[in-house]
Amino acid sequence: MLKTSRNVPDYLFGRGAITHLKDMLQHNPASGSGPVLFLADHFFRSKGLDSVLPVSGQDRLIFIDSTDEPTTSGINALRNSLESDGFAPAAVVGIGGGTTLDTAKALSNLLTNGGNAEDYQGWDLVKVKGVHKIGVPTLSGTGAESSRTCVMTNAASGLKLGMNSHFTVFDQLVLDPDLTATVPSEQYFYSGADTYIHCIESLHGRFRHPVGDAFSDQALRLSREVFQTGNMLSPENREKLMVASYLGGCAIANSFVGVVHPVSAGLSVVLHIHHCLGNCLALNALEEFYPAEVEEFRGMLKSHEITLPRGVCSGLDESGFEQLYNATVIHEKPLSNALGDSFKDMLTRKKLRSIFETI
Ligand code: ZN
Repeated sequence: MLKTSRNVPDYLFGRGAITHLKDMLQHNPASGSGPVLFLADHFFRSKGLDSVLPVSGQDRLIFIDSTDEPTTSGINALRNSLESDGFAPAAVVGIGGGTTLDTAKALSNLLTNGGNAEDYQGWDLVKVKGVHKIGVPTLSGTGAESSRTCVMTNAASGLKLGMNSHFTVFDQLVLDPDLTATVPSEQYFYSGADTYIHCIESLHGRFRHPVGDAFSDQALRLSREVFQTGNMLSPENREKLMVASYLGGCAIANSFVGVVHPVSAGLSVVLHIHHCLGNCLALNALEEFYPAEVEEFRGMLKSHEITLPRGVCSGLDESGFEQLYNATVIHEKPLSNALGDSFKDMLTRKKLRSIFETI
């Protein structure tokens, strides 16, 4: 069945773009009419962010603790606290990595749709447009700035799934490569590798889309350039990775991921490993499914002197491995995209356990 796609309608790209955020907010009818809620990664708490962000008296700045990735209960609690204060923002601005951007997207949807965040985990369940939302990524790779999802974990059900919806797409973006200059190199690598992984998974899948493929091809080319040159953090490479991340997010809107993301989601739900590191650990263990890419990826790790943690699953007992299995195979769409409808015949309990044991 044919489905429409949606990309971010309005974005500003370039070094110093953040200084135009005030104009963007003031000149947009949606955001210029009321207070703005700024959600910034707690990393910036001590970084004098107030001088860069146009926070005025009626606005509110909340720092988001990105130690753990978004949960449905965390999003609900944030919405509840705003509502109990009677604070109704005209715009939500997310400044940070995937966790902060996804929090901004989920909150924006929840503020207008009512109910709870977990009610919208799935595909096309969001009914109406959220509060005007602006994304300002400070880390490149997840594609959260351009994708149509915002990933959240429901701790009660163990489900890690986003609000996949056209309404989840940001209305505006500020893409300023200067904002990624202070990212530690390991984190920069893990996040950037997420783009690479999205693209190889999409391009290996059954559910292909010509536009998605074109986005993936270009994002893959740029991420290879970044990670196959000497200084991945040079201004030129930070610019390229920001573009690659944006295009990778657009690619995902038209396609599905494969085996890596479900395995990574298992690591996230059971061991609370962050998305991007989890993907790197998962890809490194999935040579059987992505042989050429795993070899290429290991070359990238080596040339940037990144050492992945080892023995991550070694402390798990039987029930821990059972939880990993369940939290992986629940992702039927990407797994059937990669392996066909009978993916459980290939990814048996035994098989997945042997994969997790190598991580
Ligand atoms: Zn990802």
